[in-house]
Amino acid sequence: MATQTKTRHISHSRVSEFLRCPKKYHFHYRLQIPPAFMPSALIFGIAVHEAIALYQQRRLEGSRTSEEDMLETFCRRWDSEELPVRYGKNEDEKSLFEKAEGIVRAYLEDPCEAGEPLAVEEKINVRLRKDLPPLRGRIDLLERTGEGDAVLTDFKTASSRRSQDPGQLVLYREALRLLGYPGAGKARLRCVVLLKTKKPGVEVQQLEAGTGELEKLMSLYRETWEAIESGASYPRPDWHCQGCQWSHVCDQG
Ligand code: SF4
Repeated sequence: MATQTKTRHISHSRVSEFLRCPKKYHFHYRLQIPPAFMPSALIFGIAVHEAIALYQQRRLEGSRTSEEDMLETFCRRWDSEELPVRYGKNEDEKSLFEKAEGIVRAYLEDPCEAGEPLAVEEKINVRLRKDLPPLRGRIDLLERTGEGDAVLTDFKTASSRRSQDPGQLVLYREALRLLGYPGAGKARLRCVVLLKTKKPGVEVQQLEAGTGELEKLMSLYRETWEAIESGASYPRPDWHCQGCQWSHVCDQG
């Protein structure tokens, strides 16, 4: 019988996974059962993210990055994947590499910089509220504009131009405020969407969070944390099951 692992921290990805399907959370985080495969969209997003992170890291250090360096980073991450990649409809390795090239070129043409970089891929581990365990995460990019305003950016790979949810950045802004980053409490939030569309491209979305959004998220996190602590592991079967990496051990798969 698999041993259960208890967690003492919370993260945006864990909460999202539990809300999508508590049973999947159970297999992944409590029992730590290895997934059966890697969805191509996931490994593509991770590898593109690493290429962009290289660009930002070099920028922080005051140097530049070439297209070749970024594509090499993409390929290195892709090649290091040990799980078999499961491709989507009309996709294969070649077509995805071409999309990665298109995204990197579009990004280098316009890297959508908001100001001077202050932090890149910065790990955070901070207790946002007394009744929650520490929030762990990693911010993609924090910049300061010429006017002295802070701008917090998340990079996301997407296959369409749909609007991105500001929730994760609202939490990270609060975390940075508590950690004492100057001006972080009023940071503007934006998502740079790396479009995996037929013609790859880059789109900047300014994200607005309504009044009370942070407290709404805190309530949701509190309820979810209580459910996680209670050991809830019921299945929530829906269309996600066909792409579920744990369907091989789930009786709903
Ligand atoms: S197959 Fe469906 S019900 Fe089972 S763990 Fe995956 S998403 Fe949840």
